[in-house]
Amino acid sequence: MTVELTIVGCAGSTAGPDSAASCYMVSHADADGRTWRLVLDLGSGAIGPLQRYCDPARVDGVLVSHGHPDHCADLGALDVLRRYGPSRDEDPPRIPLLGPEGIDRRIGDVSGDPADRGAATYDFRPLAHGDVTRIGPFTIEAARANHPVPALAFLVSAGRSTLLYTGDTDRCAEVDALAARPGVSLILGEAGWAHREVNPPGVHMNGDQLGRMAALSGRAALVVTHVASWVDPEPTLVQARAHAPGAVLARPGETHAF
Ligand SMILES: [Zn+2]
Ligand SMILES: [Zn+2]
Repeated sequence: MTVELTIVGCAGSTAGPDSAASCYMVSHADADGRTWRLVLDLGSGAIGPLQRYCDPARVDGVLVSHGHPDHCADLGALDVLRRYGPSRDEDPPRIPLLGPEGIDRRIGDVSGDPADRGAATYDFRPLAHGDVTRIGPFTIEAARANHPVPALAFLVSAGRSTLLYTGDTDRCAEVDALAARPGVSLILGEAGWAHREVNPPGVHMNGDQLGRMAALSGRAALVVTHVASWVDPEPTLVQARAHAPGAVLARPGETHAF
């Protein structure tokens, strides 16, 4: 049974003219023919295109890497869709929401009610470095990323397929360790830095750093994402390919089997 990654939105830092901000869907049909779907990040604008690929109110889990708007702003939009949209009267089960401690407060930040945690829609399950949990056929492992706010990278496995999603991170030992883990088949890696020659530490990788990180994996394919929405991504791809020759750019609507 293959596992598929769909690029819902891949613009870095803000939504762009041709893409929502960070949002990806991982889907897997189990032996009984049921298709399970996880959403990785739900950044600004993502609730729109996500509806092309699934009923967002019925996904099996939402994983949020960190609290920046380009990764979690549309948690509030999914809450509205789940409570008032077409599936309202069918009352689908609450959606597991996995992410760093406190990420559920971002829903109230957006809705304007500080006490709002989206509790009618989400079953919040905080994750910390090293935590391993399961949703249906998926095993999910979290690792600390290197970013200005609490941030996680995720390993998502089903069957023999394993995806590393870096979230937002500078190069760091914790995420390197996931990349070097045996069995990683696809790396969805961020390259948020391209627009300055000298960048502050502890925020993002550039294409060179991401390519070097991906090379720690013997066999994983690399999809380069989170290039800033105002940046030409081609030079970043060239940098990454110097170390990971098969690397490709994330493009909205494309699917990668792994
Ligand atoms: Zn970001
Ligand atoms: Zn960020």
